[in-house]
Amino acid sequence: MQQQLIDNFERKFEYLRLSITDECNFKCNYCLPDGYQRSHQKSFLSHQEINNLVIAFAELGTKKVRITGGEPSLRKDFTQIIASVASVDGIEKVATTTNGFQLEKQAKDWFDAGLSAINISVDSLDANTFHLITGKNIFQKVMRGVQASLKAGYAQVKVNSVLMKGVNDNDLALFLNWIKTEKIQLRFIELMQTDDNDAFFNKYHLSGESIKARLLAEGWQQKQPLSHDGPAQVFKHPEYEGEIGLIMPYSKDFCKSCNRLRVSSTGRLHLCLFGEEGVDLRDLLGNSCDKEALKQRISNALKDKKISHYLQQGITGGTPHLASIGG
Ligand code: SAM
Ligand code: SF4
Repeated sequence: MQQQLIDNFERKFEYLRLSITDECNFKCNYCLPDGYQRSHQKSFLSHQEINNLVIAFAELGTKKVRITGGEPSLRKDFTQIIASVASVDGIEKVATTTNGFQLEKQAKDWFDAGLSAINISVDSLDANTFHLITGKNIFQKVMRGVQASLKAGYAQVKVNSVLMKGVNDNDLALFLNWIKTEKIQLRFIELMQTDDNDAFFNKYHLSGESIKARLLAEGWQQKQPLSHDGPAQVFKHPEYEGEIGLIMPYSKDFCKSCNRLRVSSTGRLHLCLFGEEGVDLRDLLGNSCDKEALKQRISNALKDKKISHYLQQGITGGTPHLASIGG
């Protein structure tokens, strides 16, 4: 019988977020405002280690893997990693989250390699604001990347936008206009507090509730959550091709539908973005991978998963920024 990862609160984990690098070439003001600074001497998981890891997770019931970072496409073997993750028995969906700088050139190659879904971060539809937020003056290039993804054949193209008070909240009308004709799920993510962004968080955090109220007032309807939606609240409107997803980690019950585990680019299992030190899996991932011991360590670790994060109390669990674990 297929094994399953179920925690003490009856949550089932079929979704792995796998970081393959913590390096990034952007300087998003909420994430790496001073740019990437290497804080460890460890190597990133090798292609072989990634393979061994994903096989073990698949045997524990994982069906979906999101390859993330840092910026995953900075890895030269990114396309090969996609192909091997997609070929693991039991993995039905391979997704990635990217800042989009390689998309214009690579969207089709990644699709052909087996990538089935893609999330692209676009925090503003105004080129200057995009530049201010990301430190990169390449808004048009990223937008051409979004178009290339829509053409490439992906089952799902999502755009992530981190909500920031007074920075991009005025872009809502532009965003809505955009998805009137584009089959994109636009996901507004509430800014989350991390160890490094305290002051920024206090100044710019904006609750997604105000967006939700506006959507409902304008005729958007909340969809019944699907089991694989995770904590996103999704809205649709008969006059729009696209959808809106709201990710509100500060809302009540956000963690009730948690369906994901994370492994960092150096091989630590994290039960929550804002949880703990993580459990090292690296010694079991090498050439002589001990798959049964690896599966056992993952299953045992899950017994310690807490019922929720404690972000509301300002407890960020020691996560310096989301690039460090893989957002
Ligand atoms: N570099 C890729 C990217 O930006 O899409 C993948 C990694 S990034 C850490 C993953 C997602 O986390 C992005 O959509 C980013 O906007 C989001 N993110 C990063 N820091 C965040 C924060 N403090 N609060 C909310 N979302 C954040
Ligand atoms: Fe890089 Fe993504 Fe963090 Fe922006 S959000 S700095 S693109 S890792």
